[in-house]
Amino acid sequence: MKLQEYRSKEILAQHGVPLLAGEVATSAEEARAAAERIGGPVVVKAQVLVGGRGKAGGVKLAATPDEAAQRAREIIGLDIKGVTVRTVLLAPAADIATEFYLGLILDRSAKAVTVIASAEGGVEIEETARVKPEAILRLPLDPLLGLQEHNVRRVSFFLGMPADLRRTFASVLRGLYDAFMQADADLAEINPLVITAAGELLALDAKIVLDESALFRHPDLEAMRDLNEEEPSEIAAREAGINFIKLDGTIGCMVNGAGLAMTTMDLVKLAGGEPANFLDIGGGAKADRVAAAFRIILDDPNVRAILVNIFGGITRGDEVARGIVEARGMLEREVPMVVRIVGTNAEEAAEILRQANLITADSLDEAAAKAVTAAGQA
Ligand code: GDP
Ligand code: MN
Repeated sequence: MKLQEYRSKEILAQHGVPLLAGEVATSAEEARAAAERIGGPVVVKAQVLVGGRGKAGGVKLAATPDEAAQRAREIIGLDIKGVTVRTVLLAPAADIATEFYLGLILDRSAKAVTVIASAEGGVEIEETARVKPEAILRLPLDPLLGLQEHNVRRVSFFLGMPADLRRTFASVLRGLYDAFMQADADLAEINPLVITAAGELLALDAKIVLDESALFRHPDLEAMRDLNEEEPSEIAAREAGINFIKLDGTIGCMVNGAGLAMTTMDLVKLAGGEPANFLDIGGGAKADRVAAAFRIILDDPNVRAILVNIFGGITRGDEVARGIVEARGMLEREVPMVVRIVGTNAEEAAEILRQANLITADSLDEAAAKAVTAAGQA
């Protein structure tokens, strides 16, 4: 789960990272009032969960409250990479002398929380990594010892931090690390971290991405979720306890188990089709959850057929089959359904499906092929 810049900054500020906090506004009038309270020149920044806002016209300077209102009017409603801006952050404008990149990621291949740093900040780090990889330091941290003093010194020297700012820099990296660990983040970055003309070290932009699987430990952070920027179908799925990711194909997949769901998608592709989604309905799926899954799948107008692939272990096949038949009666839109149920009570399940006139299949290859054919004809 990605946090908006102003939320990320709140968290970093709590951990002692120096920054110019500001105020959010959702209208030009609110922006004017915020700029008046801040006093002096401000920066007006679109709050959207996509990078490169600066280039897209989502970050603008304003010298007066009137100008701040005008800039806010331009930015609110702007489309940035498919997302409509609803909120802007106003913060005191900084006079930038130098821009750095400083980030922490969970690097799975290094099996460690890793510091990423570059003196070529401000621009997107992916771009620097491509054109000038030697300008980036990647420093994996010992998982047991965490961030050590010598790690901090190494990063500080790599960035060429001036001597009088090294202590402040240490508190920035320490604060970023503490925020990352405490929030169970996957990523925490400051881009740019700047030295101002007056010689101050400040975080001008912040981004924190949280680990969804650890969110249950952080109800306060969960409350920061921005539903405006999530797929409505993915929100509905989360509420129903279903693991769902929307894709672009035409064949809806309903599967129990994440691994089986991945395999099912692979076989759909092998049979010449494109999956419309990843969906893991979880263990012991009952009729209401099956119905919710169908509704979520069918909400996508691209879906032309549904492939149901259930492996009955503890889950009883006949129960799922009854759930499918029951759920089908409640649906608003009808598309061909190919159902494969194996495992516990598979024969009873097959009988229920046959009586309901659903397309069945004995093997997964056969099921995938039938779904692809049905989608092509629909
Ligand atoms: P991003 O493009 O979405 O990463 O948004 P940023 O917050 O990083 O802003 C992009 C760029 O705008 C920064 O790299 C800075 O060069 C510039 N910028 C942001 N805030 C200020 C500010 O307070 N003063 C000045 N002069 N420039 C700023
Ligand atoms: Mn940035």
